[in-house]
Formats: sequence, C-alpha cells, structure tokens
Amino acid sequence: MTAKYHDEIHVALGAVLGAMSICRSVRDRLVTADTLTKKDKSPVTVADFASQAVICSHLSHAFPDDPIVGEETAQDLRSQEQAALRIAVLGAARESLEGASDAEILGFIDRGGADGSTDRYWTLDPIDGTKGFLRGEQYAVALALIENHQVVLGVLGCPNVETQGRLGTVFFAVRDQGSFMLSKLEFETDQVAVPRIHTSGSADASQARFCESVESGHSDQSLSQRIATDLGITSPPLRMDSQVKYGILARGDASIYLRLPTRSDYHEKIWDHAAGMIIVEEAGGKVTDITGEPLDFSHGRTLTANRGVVATNGLIHDRVISAVQGAMGA
Ligand code: AMP
Ligand code: MG
Repeated sequence: MTAKYHDEIHVALGAVLGAMSICRSVRDRLVTADTLTKKDKSPVTVADFASQAVICSHLSHAFPDDPIVGEETAQDLRSQEQAALRIAVLGAARESLEGASDAEILGFIDRGGADGSTDRYWTLDPIDGTKGFLRGEQYAVALALIENHQVVLGVLGCPNVETQGRLGTVFFAVRDQGSFMLSKLEFETDQVAVPRIHTSGSADASQARFCESVESGHSDQSLSQRIATDLGITSPPLRMDSQVKYGILARGDASIYLRLPTRSDYHEKIWDHAAGMIIVEEAGGKVTDITGEPLDFSHGRTLTANRGVVATNGLIHDRVISAVQGAMGA
C-alpha cells in the first residue's frame, strides 16, 4: 500500500524544484545593481508569474480538478501596455514549459485564482519574500495542500538556504508522516535517503534563537525585543525574509519565530503560512497565533480569525505565548 498523499507530494516536489530553477535563472539574468537602486520590481514580477505558471502546469496535469489559491492572476498581463512584461514572463516560463503556447501559459497562471471555498485546494506563493529575492538573500517557493480546512502537506523550496555547504534546500512535510529536508546534492543525484528533521530539544527559553522578518512593517521588531528580554534571551534575532524562517525552525537552527502584527487591519495570507506551518508541526514544533489559538484555514484566502503568528519548538510554546501576552498588554 502506498502512503497517503504519495502522488501529491511527488508532484508538489517536482513543481517546486522546477519553479526554483526558474527563479534562480531570472534572478541571475535580470537583477542588476541598477534594478536594486531604481527599486524596479520587474524581475520579481517576471519570476513570480513564471514560477506560478510552472507550478500550476504541474498541478493541472496531475490533478486537473484541484483548485489553486495563488497570489497572482494573468489578467493584467494580457493587456497591450504589459506586452513587454508578458513576453519576459512567457520566455522565463518556457525554460520549463517547453512547447507550451502563450495562451496555455497564461491559462496556467489563471489557474491560481481560486478562492479557497472548496473542500480541497492547493495554496501557492510563487515567490515568498520578494524583497529577499531582489537583495540576493532568502526567499521561498511555497506550496501546500489543504483538505477540509486542514493543511495536509507542504513544500518550501529555498534556493538560498545552505545545507552541507551547498546552496539550495527543500523542506517538505506530509501530515502524520514527518518533515524532511532535501539538499541540492540529493535533488541533483536523485538520492532516495531523505533525512527527517526535528525541532530543537531545548526547553530553556533563555537559550532560544529567535527569528523574525527583515521588514519591520511585517512584524513589530521593538515588541519582539521586549519579549526576548522578558524571556532572558541575549542573542540578537535572526532576521530573514519569507517562510525560510519556518524551515530553519523545523531543522532546529532556531526555536522561536515571532510575527507580531504592526497593523490591526492586516490579515495574514494562507499562502504565507500553510507550507511552513505543517513543516514545523511535523518536525515536532507548534504554530499558533499570538493568543495561542491554532491557525484557522477555514476562511478562504486569509487567516481572518487569527492575529499574528508564534511558532516554536513546542517545548517552550506556553512560556513564549505568556511573554507575548505580557508584552502586548503592557
Ligand atoms: P516576510 O518575508 O516574513 O517578512 O513576509 C513576507 C510576506 O509578508 C509577504 O508575502 C506579504 O504577503 C506579507 N505581508 C505584507 N504586508 C504585511 C503586514 N503588514 N504584516 C504582515 N505580513 C505582511
Ligand atoms: Mg508571501
């Protein structure tokens, strides 16, 4: 008997690996010192759309009836004003989708427009951490499958995470089957022995490494500093973009990830958390919102019922939640 979600995880891994190579090649070709100083976001846009096209194409072939809740739609790309961008996206996507017509590629991108109201759907962030992508720092391709409001599998492709001295790491998890990590070596050589990963075993909150966003607009960094002080943590935070933070926590390189709301009207997007959450949970950790409630994936595209995110190795979760509550009430 094959394990549950055997086909889904294989298709998801192939899709994410394909998208990672497109992201890398777009970055190498299009991101220059000039784009960074001009704050020209077009390389991100090209890679975003092309990554979504590749992933939706893999999913559409294997699971034609599955809806996909993605960040982008191709609507704007079809207009005359966006002809140059469209040509760049089609060219980048064709590195992986050889022989696909323009209409097919745009159609794949449009597959990502579902609203998350069905019993089963995929959720995709084709490039999570766009600022990290432009800076040449951390970003992730994030894909998860949700069934009956539960995340059942997740894949995080992290082109700039190093494992055993080599760049490129994929974290993945299947509900009740564990979390795993593939390094570049394994995906190049098709090796089958994929190691399970586990969160750190330390129950001493004061020794915890904590991570948070680079962008202070995405998480309140002065509040996290007060929480760290309360917990007795003296080492500086590990600041990195994207769901790479969940991967780092899952393999025990950090024990706390804080995402503390900076605005009361912002609701977290499901594609920013679904894959990372299951990877941390299956590695032994715990993920909740800032009040300690589970993340609730029953409200479509956003986590409307939750505020912020706290992820830990599990052992220190209650202690961290009480420090968060104390600091927020203060
Ligand atoms: P990170 O790289 O962890 O800072 O997260 C990147 C994600 O933050 C993006 O994919 C956005 O969807 C999301 N984001 C945008 N604005 C906010 C905000 N005000 N609070 C929290 N997350 C945000
Ligand atoms: Mg994102």
